[in-house]
Amino acid sequence: MGTAVDAPNKGTNGSMAEKKPTVVFVLGGPGSGKGTQCANIVEHFGYTHLSAGDLLRAEIRSGSENGTMIQNMIKEGKIVPSEVTIKLLQQAMAESGNDKFLIDGFPRNEENRAAFEDVTKIEPAFVLFFDCSEEEMERRLLGRNQGREDDNIETIRKRFKVFLESSLPVIEHYKSRGKVRMIEAARPIEEVFESVKAVFTSKNEAE
Ligand code: UDP
Ligand code: MG
Repeated sequence: MGTAVDAPNKGTNGSMAEKKPTVVFVLGGPGSGKGTQCANIVEHFGYTHLSAGDLLRAEIRSGSENGTMIQNMIKEGKIVPSEVTIKLLQQAMAESGNDKFLIDGFPRNEENRAAFEDVTKIEPAFVLFFDCSEEEMERRLLGRNQGREDDNIETIRKRFKVFLESSLPVIEHYKSRGKVRMIEAARPIEEVFESVKAVFTSKNEAE
């Protein structure tokens, strides 16, 4: 929805003068600790946390027409079509009233990434990457008991495969642009957060 003044709010080149939001992509394998650390970042640094997986699960619960399709894809560990996820992210950004976002668990493949940049014209300030062994991630996923339909060993194996084949190339893309901040994630929560804090404290250097 527009504000009271819509049309005149343009820069000299005709583009909207509105400042683009700051976006940090938070990536890492399933169970690497993205959600946990995002909650800490929100508390300390004033970002709004948008978990793509949580937005998709909320969309299933809302009874939307895409619900069944999303549910089936999540159960199989597959990546939901970009337009669905991007629409949910855009809505959540617009509704938040904030201009700083942690986008957690997205983009999951190169197509997600290109589509997001295309549609929103937003490039991430940087990418936080939680590096964790599969062994440790599997242990966490099987131990967390959040009632998720995809936290069973069969789906977990599929999610690991999708992560290696489809999501790691996104990390490589941003690595080649100097945008990846790698965090050793197979450590206790507080220790990991110390490393995360260091990244956000030197954020200006990153932009
Ligand atoms: N998912 C998706 N696109 C996204 C984010 C999530 O398709 O951008 C789906 C995908 O099936 C994934 C599942 O939602 O396996 C769970 O994602 P979430 O990020 O919640 O789980 P995590 O990998 O962090 O444990
Ligand atoms: Mg998560």
